[in-house]
Amino acid sequence: MKIKDQEFIKKENIGTVLNLILKEGPISRARIAEKVTMSFTSASRIVASLLESNLIEKVGYTNEGSGRKASLLRPKRNAVISIGVEIDKDKIRIAFMDFVGGLIAMEEFNFIVTTPEEAAKFIGNCIYFMMEENLIPSQQIVGVGVGLPGLINPEKGEVLLSAQFGWEEIPFRKILEQEMKISAPVHIDNELKMKAIAENELILDRKEKSMVLAGFGSGVGSVLVSNGEIYRGKDNFSGEIGHTIVDPNGVYCTCGNFGCLQTYIAEQFLVVEASKVKPIKSLNEIIKEMEKGERWAIRIIDRAILYTVITINNLVNIHNPDIVVISGKFVESNHQIRNRIIERCKEEMTNYNRQYHLYTTETGSKGVVSGAALKVKNYFLENKVFN
Ligand SMILES: [Zn+2]
Repeated sequence: MKIKDQEFIKKENIGTVLNLILKEGPISRARIAEKVTMSFTSASRIVASLLESNLIEKVGYTNEGSGRKASLLRPKRNAVISIGVEIDKDKIRIAFMDFVGGLIAMEEFNFIVTTPEEAAKFIGNCIYFMMEENLIPSQQIVGVGVGLPGLINPEKGEVLLSAQFGWEEIPFRKILEQEMKISAPVHIDNELKMKAIAENELILDRKEKSMVLAGFGSGVGSVLVSNGEIYRGKDNFSGEIGHTIVDPNGVYCTCGNFGCLQTYIAEQFLVVEASKVKPIKSLNEIIKEMEKGERWAIRIIDRAILYTVITINNLVNIHNPDIVVISGKFVESNHQIRNRIIERCKEEMTNYNRQYHLYTTETGSKGVVSGAALKVKNYFLENKVFN
């Protein structure tokens, strides 16, 4: 038992030192020892093993008090590359992220999702194409993260249900691992949960304890991140607020119930309403009609704004977060709509239990791919380096 404990502490120390170099490098051995409260000898030993595994590199020197030159260490940017993928209904986004979180390349490919096998084959080809284009050798790639809409089981790597793609009980991780031209582990998760990882790690990092990310787009969903951890619930189902019933006599929803929240906000339902007046194919077309002053379009958007504000307030009352970040086509594609939502939410912030910071997403179209790549990198740091 004692040996195991020592082994565990050793791994944990390597992890702490590497994370410190990732966050604060270039940094000297003496400063590392001071920051993580370990002896200079221990810090030097860990640094030597990290240099040997090619995860960090020496860069320049510093004179720290003693007058002796001390080398500075920083992460090796291209030592670890993680890939993030977003599958949307008519496009696939792919990004390559380096060890310090910078995007080396990001591309968007037009693709109408059909079968899981075809989607996997297409993604595999695109990844290979981008590797060639950016001269990235396969041994630097530590994994591929994929964010997609639907109910996902990340542990089993299965898509339980994606109504948008018509996929049910699909072992997508296995399919993609088979279809890729490189050998790399695949991680899959719900797109909004991937985006929440990016919002939390890349943008927020402001020491706030809890954040709710709410998405208003082709569906309605939310993710609670508390102390850096995503709350998932028993089946990774947590936050599927789009299917909370707001009117049992309402319209039919794709889930089989009537009057779900998303039927008042999600694009496809707004388009159905608008089509009763004139042939309309997208949210953008409804917004154009609203800007022209068409009364029916104004009313459809007004109602969607009202339900969006109610949703944000409900989320605040359920979770009591420090921050709410709103995202999705409905809040991101039009300034006027976004500002009205923010103003109405602020008007409601009068009671003691309604105080929170409200932001619009800053990761935008890079959110899902960045989060998916970060998930891969975090997994690598937790499981590979220290084992
Ligand atoms: Zn529903």
